[in-house]
Amino acid sequence: MKPAAIPSSAGSGVTAPLARLTIDVDAVVANWRFLDAGSGTAECAAVMKADAYGLGARQLAPALAAAGCRTFFVAQPAEGVAMRHHLARHHMAVRPGAPPAPLRIFVLHGLQDGDAPLFAAHGLLPVLSTERQIRLWQDAARAAGTALPAALHVDSGMNRLGLTPAAFRRLTDEADGLAGVTVVLLLTHLACGDQPAHPMNAEQRSRFLDLARCLPGVPLSLANSAGIFHGPTAALDLVRPGIALYGVDPIERPAAENPLRPVVEWHSRILQIREIDASEAVGYGASFRAERRTRLATVSVGYADGYLRSFSNSAFGAIDGVRVPLAGRVSMDLLTFDITDLPADAVQEGDELELAGATVTVGELASCGGTIGYEVLTRLGSRLVRRYKKAGHLVENEEDSNEPVSIG
Ligand SMILES: *Cc1c(COP(=O)(O)O)cnc(C)c1O
Repeated sequence: MKPAAIPSSAGSGVTAPLARLTIDVDAVVANWRFLDAGSGTAECAAVMKADAYGLGARQLAPALAAAGCRTFFVAQPAEGVAMRHHLARHHMAVRPGAPPAPLRIFVLHGLQDGDAPLFAAHGLLPVLSTERQIRLWQDAARAAGTALPAALHVDSGMNRLGLTPAAFRRLTDEADGLAGVTVVLLLTHLACGDQPAHPMNAEQRSRFLDLARCLPGVPLSLANSAGIFHGPTAALDLVRPGIALYGVDPIERPAAENPLRPVVEWHSRILQIREIDASEAVGYGASFRAERRTRLATVSVGYADGYLRSFSNSAFGAIDGVRVPLAGRVSMDLLTFDITDLPADAVQEGDELELAGATVTVGELASCGGTIGYEVLTRLGSRLVRRYKKAGHLVENEEDSNEPVSIG
């Protein structure tokens, strides 16, 4: 039964939310197709950890599966279970009664004691990063009476997660070091992918290919989003884009050169407009002082929504494509923009102001606070009303809602 009267998130179902995200599902699919085309013969997977970088795996994963994506990565086992559920719902919707398509879900953080039944029940593939995790999977294989598929993560220089080269060589040297484990993918992760010219990239690649000789015939994966832009030698057998799917340029370059389609628009309503005299202050700590007679617009978003406090006095918003500087500190629920340079009749209370989107890119906003687009996306708060754009229609984020709402 559809609980139509119960909103699934604060503000959902309200016709005029105070702050909302519009997430372009078609743009995510277009970005995946672009990355797939740019990866030669390599398979293009989709990294959807942290609820698809905060944008909603439930809505985005089925759309990518429908476009032909066959392999998904999440970080944690619980995310894998949720992902299986999202993909199964998609499958039931498009092919009722047919056997499920073989969609692979890799869990990057592998498994812990007692997790093996959960992996089996939901058809999840662990990415094994330690000898202990390999033993746990071997125990599960022995209990099941059959070899079990998994990926191995070998560390090629990042020193964060993954088998050390020494451990990897030891395991592959021993006759039964990997007994019971069918290695379906060998992966490593780049430390400096966002800087294509960094010497670490070539070093990691050659160390990885060298290690891979110990496991002949196993498909190899090196590139995250940034790696896909390093040229054809980085793609190997499977690429693992995350951030690029969501429209954020993984490479440092001018915003105009970003070949990806923007995915997120973040708007908030103007609650109040006021004018202050030169030398008056704005916000907590009185950290902004007007240097002229100044018009201010106060909007309904704050650090509780993921608009980082480090954006204080440095970020921009936009109204009708015109940038307006943030004035003063970011509060929990409120922001104040200097709109003096806009014509007085161009903005009214109740109007929407862009916090990120067509004018202010997510990457640009992030850099105003000394951070990266990844952090901005994954911190977008639960209070923001999310709606999804699919084939020119807007769909509110309500459980089981599939009735499109026409734009305009
Ligand atoms: C998060 C992650 C990715 C995706 O990285 P992006 O930079 O978002 O493309 C790929 N591989 C691993 C191992 C990851 O943890």
